[in-house]
Amino acid sequence: MSEKRCAATRKGYNWKGSEAILPSILHEQLFLEAMEVTTERTLLMVKPDGVRRSLLGLIIARIEQKGLVISNMRMFRMDDAFARTFYAEHDGRDYFPALLSFMTSGPVVALQVESPNAIVLVRTAIGATRPEDRLPGTIRADFSTQLTENVVHASASPTDAERELALVFGDSHTTLGAVHE
Ligand code: ADP
Ligand code: MG
Repeated sequence: MSEKRCAATRKGYNWKGSEAILPSILHEQLFLEAMEVTTERTLLMVKPDGVRRSLLGLIIARIEQKGLVISNMRMFRMDDAFARTFYAEHDGRDYFPALLSFMTSGPVVALQVESPNAIVLVRTAIGATRPEDRLPGTIRADFSTQLTENVVHASASPTDAERELALVFGDSHTTLGAVHE
């Protein structure tokens, strides 16, 4: 097999036609691969302060305006055990008791958000953890000056997103998602 044909086969393209047009086919294949974006699912959660302050509509509007797709939603109140599991990585930190008490202080609203690169896009939209690092236009910057009571949570990585969505939505987190089709 020629070098060009080998290269095409390695890319999973089984071209049986003329070698003359193989370079352009390879080019198109590379272009399509470069354009390929992975649809991700992430968890955005309006924390008890956001629900208490009636910020739900404003937060959801920002997500929808940006073109992110909300494919599942749930309002519930965390009990202590759920909050401990959800924030397990913070167990042992001096602020952990205050975080648990805040997160169990009222209902939260969990949104499953889908889009290409949803995880980083939603993290960017909510803004930084530390108040002084938050850029104007982010949800946390615009609605909170506090470190703990910061209105929203969003998953920080693909592993966190899957774990958190499964915790909040159980099996249904994989079955919804066709709402906008
Ligand atoms: P993020 O929510 O931006 O991912 P972290 O995972 O570091 O931030 O922390 C989880 C939550 O714990 C924060 O959103 C905030 O409510 C609270 N928190 C984090 N660090 C502190 C701290 N040093 N003091 C008090 N509360 C904190
Ligand atoms: Mg975090």
